[in-house]
Amino acid sequence: MPVSDCLFCKIVAGEIPASVVHRADGFLAFHDINPKAPVHILVVPEQHVVSIADVGDLTDAERAAMGPFIARVASMVGLASDGYRVATNAGPNARQEIMHLHWHVLGGALLSQSM
Ligand code: AMP
Repeated sequence: MPVSDCLFCKIVAGEIPASVVHRADGFLAFHDINPKAPVHILVVPEQHVVSIADVGDLTDAERAAMGPFIARVASMVGLASDGYRVATNAGPNARQEIMHLHWHVLGGALLSQSM
């Protein structure tokens, strides 16, 4: 169920515009509005779950599709050959800002050693 005050639920529903890269298998990929690398994509499940801590609330099919979807998106935006970083923040110590699970897919340059 979409959560009414969730920004990423609104992007999934098309109520807020985003630069969409790909949608399939219950996931949406779009460009981060404030990129931290030359290429910075966010991958979100269409279903609202708060963070990786709640990944058990996704279906088996969604969990199985998640990794391959991220890898496919990275390939689609040209990151496959030189590599990329995939990260997700969960909770306050990780500085999670948007309480809807999202994977940061970063690349396009040699990234910093620190996460
Ligand atoms: P996090 O700190 O892991 O919760 O990351 C949230 C990310 O969402 C940040 O990198 C923001 O730049 C990004 N963001 C916030 N609002 C939007 C938006 N409207 N469209 C795309 N990305 C967004």
